[in-house]
Amino acid sequence: MSQPSDGSRCSPHSPGPETLKQFRSAGRGPWTSVSDADWNDWRWQLKNRITSLAQLEKVMPALSPEERAGVHLADTKLAMAITPHFFNLIDTADVNCPIRRQVIPREEETLTKSWELSDPCGEDAHSPVPGLVHRYPDRVLFLVTDRCAAYCRYCTRSRLVSNASGYDFQPDFDQQIQYIAQHPEIRDVLLSGGDPLLLSDEKLGGLLTRLRAIPHVEFLRIGTRIPIFLPQRITPALCAMLKQFHPLFISVHTNHPRELTTEVREALARLADAGIPLGNQSVLLRHVNDDPVVMKALVQKLLLCRVRPYYIYQCDPIAGSAHLRASVRRGLEIMESLRGHTTGYAVPQYVIDAPGGGGKVPVNPEYVLSRNADRVVIRNFEGKVFEYIEGASQPVGYKPSESFEAPKVLEPARVRRM
Ligand code: SF4
Repeated sequence: MSQPSDGSRCSPHSPGPETLKQFRSAGRGPWTSVSDADWNDWRWQLKNRITSLAQLEKVMPALSPEERAGVHLADTKLAMAITPHFFNLIDTADVNCPIRRQVIPREEETLTKSWELSDPCGEDAHSPVPGLVHRYPDRVLFLVTDRCAAYCRYCTRSRLVSNASGYDFQPDFDQQIQYIAQHPEIRDVLLSGGDPLLLSDEKLGGLLTRLRAIPHVEFLRIGTRIPIFLPQRITPALCAMLKQFHPLFISVHTNHPRELTTEVREALARLADAGIPLGNQSVLLRHVNDDPVVMKALVQKLLLCRVRPYYIYQCDPIAGSAHLRASVRRGLEIMESLRGHTTGYAVPQYVIDAPGGGGKVPVNPEYVLSRNADRVVIRNFEGKVFEYIEGASQPVGYKPSESFEAPKVLEPARVRRM
């Protein structure tokens, strides 16, 4: 089978940014005898997902012992499923392949730290009716399904997606819609799951029609990883249906630049051409994207796909995810490497979803060094320090209490400590 030759994993083996930013086709991999019609049919891709150890070993004989044990145990925790398209992005010769780490279960998933949680964002505690999470004042999370095209090993909803652990997720669209209709403060509905784009066009269109009929619902959003796992699903018919429901935004989920293949770029272009603003959410993952070179290549490549990088999430303390979690310190270093060093549109917000249900909290390197009634002392991306005098809001004749200091440059080490 064809193997990715860019070797795109974290330092010290990371290739240069230009290599990471190249668009390549996922290719056919082991599925060379499949017709074009089948390969490009999203239902064929779904039907032919890799979901068992036997299927995986057939296309990838060199599994590590940790992976083999992980696949054995996956059906009791979070099922394994990998679309043929996404499988072809895996470097089967590299046990540290950043794509492989995201979708192939490992034995470490069974090791749970005392502070890890099955519902780290406290969603169940904020769920007034099954399948609806109302945690913020003016918006709700509307879970439509527990199924995804492939399953991410760090999924924050692994308690329910794939239904491997017996959560028995039963959304009730009637109850969910009734709750929204009865709460005029809800102006923003985010459809997620599971993956809403796994619904048929008819079912998803019917749901969007009912939501659009609620007068106080201003804004609809869909969170999906389908364009990345299953770009074939982004058909012209789907796009034509979605464009009837503007304003409708879509957040995709991409973690590594290799995921942005030519097929994915074309699928995203179809959505963008339908007038849908696109954003991306990444999860900071150890040995996947916890590297400034990899992350910068990802955010720049997303802009090439007309997708605005929106969030980098600190990986939630989901049970059994310690081997995939990178440190907050690393996340801050990555943000430091982006802000000012590349286009502002390419710089996402780094957030921690406060464990227990506190919601998203922005986390930033420190750029405000001190502040009083007269002035703010700030530093820029190069470590140069500046004062911003706030005299404009003071009475006529006001003078700042101290003289303005000339900008100075902080040593890089000092910048990092702040
Ligand atoms: S696509 Fe989203 S909901 Fe599905 S497994 Fe991945 S992170 Fe979880």
